[in-house]
Amino acid sequence: MSEVRIQNADLDSALTEAKEAYVARNPKSLARFVEATAVMPGGNTRSVLFYAPFPLGFARGEGGRLEDLDGHAYIDFLGEFTAGIYGHSHPLVRRAIEQALDGGINLGGHNLIEARFARAVTERFGLERVRFTNSGTEANLMALATAVAATGRKKIIVFRGGYHGGVFMFRSGNSPVNVPHDFVLARYNDAAGAAALIESHARELAAVIVEPMLGGGGCIPAEPEFLATLRAATSDAGAVLVFDEVMTSRLGPHGLAAMLGVCPDLTTLGKYIGGGMSFGAFGGRASLLDLFDPRRADALPHAGTFNNNVLTMAAGLAGVTEVYTPAAAVALSARGEALRARLNAQCRRAGAALQFTGIGSMMAAHFTAGAIRRPEDVANADPRLKELFFFDLLAQGVWIAQRGMINLSLPIGDVECDRLAAVVEEFLEVRRPLLAAA
Ligand SMILES: *Cc1c(COP(=O)(O)O)cnc(C)c1O
Repeated sequence: MSEVRIQNADLDSALTEAKEAYVARNPKSLARFVEATAVMPGGNTRSVLFYAPFPLGFARGEGGRLEDLDGHAYIDFLGEFTAGIYGHSHPLVRRAIEQALDGGINLGGHNLIEARFARAVTERFGLERVRFTNSGTEANLMALATAVAATGRKKIIVFRGGYHGGVFMFRSGNSPVNVPHDFVLARYNDAAGAAALIESHARELAAVIVEPMLGGGGCIPAEPEFLATLRAATSDAGAVLVFDEVMTSRLGPHGLAAMLGVCPDLTTLGKYIGGGMSFGAFGGRASLLDLFDPRRADALPHAGTFNNNVLTMAAGLAGVTEVYTPAAAVALSARGEALRARLNAQCRRAGAALQFTGIGSMMAAHFTAGAIRRPEDVANADPRLKELFFFDLLAQGVWIAQRGMINLSLPIGDVECDRLAAVVEEFLEVRRPLLAAA
């Protein structure tokens, strides 16, 4: 990067140059993309993976490393949007999957692992009961359906900037593909505003659903008094408080809610807890979950062919009991805290309007200098800077989300963190004129 004449006169030419270099470096990824567009809209089956001019195709992954189709190696600082905490080839997770395969795929009945896994998950995250689904989205669908059925009410309070799955996107208000619940949008980290809204809708309110830290919304932590207020106000209103811990359960030994000392009625889980297989879960109060007890005459149904998929049950059980233990969670969080503090110190020293928000092993880059309490606070940041950051890091062999999200996985150690810090330092140096203008 330093040998080439960098077009830093303005952001547009810098970005154009970075993308041209990207296109030139990745002909096989381009070819894969073009071929895929013939049969998949935009060559895509997962919106978040697309970025212009075309996304990289990966040939393989091992540990905390990735290799793209053109043979470039990357340190994986995305960690599959938090689902990839074990890396790409953890031996204990692989062994569990292989053992499960030996016992036969899809038995069409109960297997020996599901209840053990359920015990591990309930004990770990302080849930009285749990039910499994195939995705975090489905877990949230079921949690909110449970709340609606249990309360006989329809309204659901959600927060602007929140993400609870493909049919629960509240980045910029409601989304055209969201499920048609009667949603009421509130402001994140506005305790008084949320309390007033909960009180005013109390008689029709089924649930409040919130991430204890916005994940996809930019790794913005909830303030403890905000969550405490939601807890008190939903109890007063007789509404169900749902914490979406699909991402954040990794942040403490027993999840983020436990770390903050707030106990929701229902918790939803997903991502890494399935050991890298498709996974979701909703759990919490027995009085709510037991509505699904099929021995009851009026039992609520909860179907799902793959809810007890042996591969997921086996990989998940090995993962949470043998690998990502409470002690491992504490250690990974400490590594993430140290890395984030280090990156933020670099940004401050460089006088750049760039900062990293987050908790523990999850963080996100924001090109703004001011305090960040909610997504509205970063709405005015120039999105081209995030793009440039992404392409500059790619060129240096570091893979993150284009939206600036960085997640540590277990194979990421000191060497990898040092490398990220060095690459960020070079970005701050080389792009100084552009960052000062921000
Ligand atoms: C990823 C995610 C979901 C959805 O999980 P999927 O398995 O992708 O359906 C829900 N909530 C949060 C907070 C997430 O990060």
